[in-house]
Amino acid sequence: MTDHETPSSTSSEQPWAQAGRQPRVAIIGAGMSGIAAAVKLEKAGYTDITVYEKTDRVGGTWRENTYPGLSCDVPSRWYSFSFALKADWPHRFSYGPDIQAYMEQVANDFGVTKKVKFNCAVQDLRYEAPCWHLTTAGGEQKQYDVVISATGILHQAVYPNIEGLDTFAGDAFHSAHWDHSVDLTGKRVGIIGTGSTACQIVGAITDQVSEMHVFQRTPHWLSPLPQIEYSKSWNKFLALFPALQRVIYHYYCQLMVRTFSAATVGNKFMQRWMSKICLKHLADNVPDPELRAKLTPDYEATCKRMIFCSDYYPALSRPHAHLITEGITNIEAKGVRTTDGKLHELDVLVLATGFNAAAFILPTRVTGENGIDLEQFWDGAPRAHRAVAMPGFPNFWMVEGPTGPVGNLSLIAISEHQVDYIISMLDRMKADGLAAIAPKKSAYDDYNAAMSEAIKTTTWATGGCKSWYLDKSGVPNLYPWFPLRYLKEMHDPQYSEYDLIK
Ligand code: NAP
Repeated sequence: MTDHETPSSTSSEQPWAQAGRQPRVAIIGAGMSGIAAAVKLEKAGYTDITVYEKTDRVGGTWRENTYPGLSCDVPSRWYSFSFALKADWPHRFSYGPDIQAYMEQVANDFGVTKKVKFNCAVQDLRYEAPCWHLTTAGGEQKQYDVVISATGILHQAVYPNIEGLDTFAGDAFHSAHWDHSVDLTGKRVGIIGTGSTACQIVGAITDQVSEMHVFQRTPHWLSPLPQIEYSKSWNKFLALFPALQRVIYHYYCQLMVRTFSAATVGNKFMQRWMSKICLKHLADNVPDPELRAKLTPDYEATCKRMIFCSDYYPALSRPHAHLITEGITNIEAKGVRTTDGKLHELDVLVLATGFNAAAFILPTRVTGENGIDLEQFWDGAPRAHRAVAMPGFPNFWMVEGPTGPVGNLSLIAISEHQVDYIISMLDRMKADGLAAIAPKKSAYDDYNAAMSEAIKTTTWATGGCKSWYLDKSGVPNLYPWFPLRYLKEMHDPQYSEYDLIK
């Protein structure tokens, strides 16, 4: 059997753990989480893996986003797979192309690429005990014993609902679908949005354009990014000492957990400290008091996702940069009109307006036991048990699912811990000859009720802002406790919370 074939559907009659065979595992998505899942499952002895990827390359968000200035604000020595630490990262905070090259390298080195079905979007997943029936957009049908959703979180671009957007006569595109055929040199460029993406773009392109117009709805908290370029000699030295690389990996983990993450889950000292860093950065880089006032947030730091970017404020202080804080009334052929009646004439309009954070695996249709539909089950407020599973969806696991991106940490690290948890579940199925495993509804309800209670005191809920963290009821869809608690949850599975079906 080749890597891309699955056994015939007749073998699905008997659950894998009872038939004494390998489980057929489908991983949806060949981004960072999908790669982590494929490598770790294989290492754990689960080798019958097929990865479904809707596009023609691995890499997920690092493949999809190609905008100027794209970088990661988590240090690369930690934003790495624990099983593939890299000594020669060029910078402390890597740029998108370097991360994409790393993703492709790891996928090749660990034999993931050959397990991927490229250009193969999964359209439908239906559970008929004890198997999942998978249908691709091309109509191909397969059966799997286990499905792992590794589709990422922020992958569906959100376009602003602004009147006349389609009438703009210049070039307009979303930040996630950057049009590289458009030369920005000497152009009048507008950007809607001032989140992490917009700040990186503005920092990167302002020197190139003739006019930079930034349309801000809400000022964001912005910390400087302590970027450095690593010397070749330091990287060569590190390559000689893998143990030192591991020490640095854990150092960054602890640093981020105890500062940035702590600030978000109630450490007021850290939160005030981060606010001070941001306000000093603003004062140091924006001499104009009027501009500074416009850029000063009126809600608590870390309420929205904190931005780390050193070149945004200096870019905005350039004479040809304009921060527009009046609301947008409409878009016309020549540009963007604001509530003061002014038309801001533009050649290019960039929409850095974010993503649908409630999608996860959707719009893939997922049907669990008794015809339960995942989209209806979530109803605009996605939740999961310990961020990885839902009652009624046996043998279906999520990596970076609802509340999964814990504590603004390295998502690679979080994904790996979630995969370890999933592997524990497969080991349990194998040991006990189980047909299926799914969280009990009561355990799921209790876990989510406790989270809903705890989230009320976090800055995400109390900080006085609106963010993509909030679900349709306005409740932050995030893990409310200290991140190390979640790691403990992942490495101490409570099987009593699950229906273990023979
Ligand atoms: P975002 O944080 O959701 O920001 C979207 C921006 O667009 C906000 O400023 C928002 O204003 C504005 N906006 C949306 N609709 C608008 C409308 N109709 N009119 C005017 N303004 C509108 O999106 P993002 O910047 O793409 O970042 C998303 C997430 O991706 C980040 O929070 C982060 O988690 C991740 N990211 C990470 C990195 C990294 O380095 N690790 C880099 C980029 C992105 P409001 O603030 O008023 O809502």
